[in-house]
Amino acid sequence: MAEDSTVARESMEFDVVIVGGGPGGLAAACRFMQIAEKTGQEISVCLVEKGSEIGAHILSGAVLEPRALNELFPNWRELGAPLSNPVTVDEVYYLPNGTNRIKMPGFGVPSVTHNHGNYATSLGNLCRWLGEQAENMGVNVFPGFAASEILYDDNGAVAGVTTGDMGISASGEKKPTYAPGYELRARYTLFAEGCRGHLGKQLISRFELDKDSGTQSRNSGISIRNGMCQARSCTPWAGRANTSEACSPALTFITWRTTRSRSA
Ligand SMILES: Cc1cc2nc3c(=O)[nH]c(=O)nc-3n(C[C@H](O)[C@H](O)[C@H](O)COP(=O)(O)OP(=O)(O)OC[C@H]3O[C@@H](n4cnc5c(N)ncnc54)[C@H](O)[C@@H]3O)c2cc1C
Repeated sequence: MAEDSTVARESMEFDVVIVGGGPGGLAAACRFMQIAEKTGQEISVCLVEKGSEIGAHILSGAVLEPRALNELFPNWRELGAPLSNPVTVDEVYYLPNGTNRIKMPGFGVPSVTHNHGNYATSLGNLCRWLGEQAENMGVNVFPGFAASEILYDDNGAVAGVTTGDMGISASGEKKPTYAPGYELRARYTLFAEGCRGHLGKQLISRFELDKDSGTQSRNSGISIRNGMCQARSCTPWAGRANTSEACSPALTFITWRTTRSRSA
């Protein structure tokens, strides 16, 4: 729902506003602060997350390849990152029908699906930890605030976001608890709202960001638990995973990719 444009809104200015407190937005926030510290600059970074707390909207359970984390926080072990479950076994099965399974020999398994060196973890917990690191570095982390509209300057460039109004009834009426959202203005606005964010869709459309791209696509994976295989499929349009059982932390293999393929 579009926000009421006649309402006077409090406005706040930052150097950087980040929309979304998933791994992408949080890592970016930390990186901005690291670069600022390294170059002796003082910058203000604000991150808004629509979940009630950081991690609240993050699907738990992931096999994490730690290369990016190694680069962002080489000392993540000392800092207490919640990665305590290294993958020790990789087993991949071919499922010819509903009852049989054939274990794939190691050489028949594509290298991108090998998980040695990776960690089975809760992505929600990792985000909570990243949120703490970001706050410790001085990022203004605002959970419970959804960016609802994009602000543009007179030249049509993105100038920040508006957070959603609070206290609106289901029928669109202002309740006694009504409080207008904030204008968060920034020199740079980073949209890290996931692959199906509604603001991202507006930006893609307005600036024709997908002009030279194919359709957004993804693939699904398989989780293996105690020697049993479970097909795992995810519906990208609903952002939802359908799986018969939760993944085993120690014996999980999953491939997951959200790609925007370039057209030839
Ligand atoms: C079922 C499933 C299993 C997966 N398994 C794995 C795995 O095993 N290993 C792996 O590496 N990856 C896995 N992934 C992929 C991984 O979850 C994503 O790549 C990763 O979460 C993307 O991070 P992100 O920060 O870009 O976006 P997201 O994680 O989607 O985070 C976006 C955040 O932005 C917030 N947000 C959205 N819109 C707004 C708004 N308007 N205002 C404020 N906040 C907003 C959301 O609440 C959310 O917290 C899996 C994904 C799914 C769905």
